Amino acid sequence: MATPQNTIAIVYDYDQTLSPSYMQDETVFPAFGIDGQRFWARCSELVRDNGYDNELAYMKVLLDTLGMDRPTNEQLKSLGERLNFYKGLPEMFDQFADGLLTEEHLSHGINVEHYIISSGLKVLIDGSRLAPYVRAVFGCEFDEDDQGRIAFPKRVISHTQKTQYLFRINKGFLDMSQDVNDHMEPEIRPIPFPNMIYIGDGPTDVPCFTVMKKNGGQAIAVYNPDDPLRVGFKKCYQLSTHADRVKHIAPSDFRPNTHLRMLLERMVEEIADRIVAERRTAIETGTVRAPKH
Ligand SMILES: [Mg+2]
Repeated sequence: MATPQNTIAIVYDYDQTLSPSYMQDETVFPAFGIDGQRFWARCSELVRDNGYDNELAYMKVLLDTLGMDRPTNEQLKSLGERLNFYKGLPEMFDQFADGLLTEEHLSHGINVEHYIISSGLKVLIDGSRLAPYVRAVFGCEFDEDDQGRIAFPKRVISHTQKTQYLFRINKGFLDMSQDVNDHMEPEIRPIPFPNMIYIGDGPTDVPCFTVMKKNGGQAIAVYNPDDPLRVGFKKCYQLSTHADRVKHIAPSDFRPNTHLRMLLERMVEEIADRIVAERRTAIETGTVRAPKH
């Protein structure tokens, strides 16, 4: 039997997309007295002089800097409470839970799920106020030594590897022991790409924007409207106007009636209406049962 394919997924990058800051700046740096400027300078050195990947560089510098003070994952998770977000978050998730879909959409079993794919630390987002609303968080992870302290990178998600997680969401392979490359017919993938919306903030999201575009999904590039230097805006403008990477750009303001909310709500509505139309056709041709009233 075919999978219903009536779930809509909104997938978010984290740093600069859901939050104006970098997660380490609000959590591990103040908690352990780490000088952020020196930290990132050391990371840049490793990338430039030793050929490190960006994500492995920051994970190594974090382990090196903490030394004997390395915390447990549970301690890191509790620091996640300190994370702050753009305006309108996390309230948007409650507003979406109630009132985003019509009675008709709901009668067809349509639902909306939220996912985060980040090159930052998963455990910090897991401990944040966003976690209760999110079906799955994908991010870099540390394994612990025999004393329970973080000791070695267990999972690294670079910006090019982020696309793998779009396919995990598409195939419903949220468990890391499942091989994302296993073949699965498009008709039985739980969340087809046309049911997906990806929100990111810049060049590091380009591989994800490209996957969405190629497979019929939607994408939005967001920028911090309060940055007087307009750095994020310029990145988004370049991606949409000159590079043709993304169709929509919007200020990262998640409050009701903002451009971003209008885009998101319209996209969800359009996807949900299309699913209803497809299901109506399927009901008429007898391939699925009519919804219960
Ligand atoms: Mg980002």
